[in-house]
Amino acid sequence: MRFDIVTLFPELVTAVGESGVTGRAVQQGRLVLETWNPRDWGAGFHQAVDDRPYGGGPGMVMQYGPLASALEAARADATAPLHVIALTPQGRPIRQAMLRELVRKPRVALVCGRYEGIDERFIEAQVDEEWSLGDYVLSGGELGAMVVIDACARLLPGVLGHADSAGQDSFSEGLLDCPHYTRPEVAAGRAVPSVLLGGDHGAIRRWRRREALGRTWERRPDLLAREELGVEDLALLDEYRVERRKGGPHTESDD
Ligand code: SAM
Repeated sequence: MRFDIVTLFPELVTAVGESGVTGRAVQQGRLVLETWNPRDWGAGFHQAVDDRPYGGGPGMVMQYGPLASALEAARADATAPLHVIALTPQGRPIRQAMLRELVRKPRVALVCGRYEGIDERFIEAQVDEEWSLGDYVLSGGELGAMVVIDACARLLPGVLGHADSAGQDSFSEGLLDCPHYTRPEVAAGRAVPSVLLGGDHGAIRRWRRREALGRTWERRPDLLAREELGVEDLALLDEYRVERRKGGPHTESDD
């Protein structure tokens, strides 16, 4: 999968391809990152890319021309059509399902705004979708682009090994992930739930499913409301609730 990132700060975005899972994906050639700096098409000695807002008011607005030229260069370099996403707080909040769809596209352009934002005509004429990280305002879209790239890289075939497969991550099945433990068996006076030590894989699978259901019920009831739970899941959730009512954090109990 290839990302073409339109940004005034290419060095910020390319850093995501230098380490960890995303670094590995780049090395394997499964992820390609290309940047396009609107400054290269900026006007005048200072290669300006922004100007004052029509109607007055604070800040500057990114101009249509340099952004359009940068995107045009990316399109010209494309062997497949570009799907163009602008990162903006006014876009659709990013969800795992959107990323799962996105990785099916071979070429995606991510447009990063700065200043007060981007001239609306660029959004209207050149952008397919607007995506948001959440209900808060950042200084630029680069962090959003990095989030999209990282989350997509995890979903590309062959990037994660079996051991850290994305299939069990939060949201992959509509639920939050279950809690995880590693050595030592006791830390901060808390023991690892005994079921995880017993080697009964059926019981472990059941416990993990119950914890995922319970956590989602407690922390993200909005996610659970979207799921159609089967009889077995409903029974597990009931079990979790009963244990909770008995008191104490579930993970400390001696299952
Ligand atoms: N005036 C804009 C508004 O209130 O909607 C905010 C502009 S913000 C200071 C500058 C740039 O940061 C935006 O154009 C966008 O690219 C990026 N940005 C800020 N918050 C974001 C968010 N929550 N999600 C994605 N991008 C964001």
